[in-house]
Amino acid sequence: KSGFVAIVGRPNVGKSTLLNRIVGQKIAIMSDKAQTTRNKIQGVYTTSEAQIIFIDTPGIHKPKHRLGDFMVETAYSALKEVDAVLFMISADEKRGRGDDFIMERLKTSKTPVFLVINKIDKVHPDDLLGIIEDYTSQMDFAEVVPISATEGNNFDTLMKTLIEQM
Ligand code: GDP
Ligand code: MG
Repeated sequence: KSGFVAIVGRPNVGKSTLLNRIVGQKIAIMSDKAQTTRNKIQGVYTTSEAQIIFIDTPGIHKPKHRLGDFMVETAYSALKEVDAVLFMISADEKRGRGDDFIMERLKTSKTPVFLVINKIDKVHPDDLLGIIEDYTSQMDFAEVVPISATEGNNFDTLMKTLIEQM
């Protein structure tokens, strides 16, 4: 199995930290999709049964000017090429306009979206349910996976869930 996954989320939620956990493995497969997304490849996760290529989609935020509009469009069109999108949020921050802006765009895409709740090491487990309810009331997610990118909690579960999606 192989596939492409994009990670999106507002600044500081932990996207780079998650990618740092993933990087370091070589890309063994080259599909047509790789031709269009290779410039943005940020990390590869390889097991005996699967390979997942993670891509970065910079510019997914609220544009400040019209050139920004164009960049956001480009970033979102890249999401059509992937098999799944990880929408990452931080458990210790309230849902904000940045999150809502991203969700408005993800809602209209056919690509399955996973809600990745990062930094669970910073909150009480009881707080998780409220966070999940808050986000799932806004849009449908293929899966909800709470993780800690720094501690590694649920990292394997996240990868396994992604592989199942492919
Ligand atoms: P990005 O802007 O989404 O790429 O976020 P970064 O990966 O740069 O992370 C922003 C900050 O959050 C850094 O100081 C990270 O060390 C911290 N961080 C990321 N993931 C976690 C986590 O799971 N738990 C905690 N406590 N801090 C985290
Ligand atoms: Mg980053």
